[in-house]
Amino acid sequence: MTRIAVDRERCVGSGTCEVLAPDVFEVDDEGALVVHRPEPAGDEVDEVEDAVQACPTRALSLVE
Ligand code: SF4
Repeated sequence: MTRIAVDRERCVGSGTCEVLAPDVFEVDDEGALVVHRPEPAGDEVDEVEDAVQACPTRALSLVE
């Protein structure tokens, strides 16, 4: 099981993760990150791995 960890001190609400994995991440109207699928599965895992790499502040990580 892969689980998404978010360092909220680092997240600046850029929305990069939402662009790469829109079913998993959403930046709400107040700029806060919402993780809809904290334990992604199947094709989502690849998208989430891309989002983790692309996050400009390294706020995302994956925990096995
Ligand atoms: S890409 Fe990183 S900084 Fe941007 S909203 Fe997602 S977690 Fe936050």
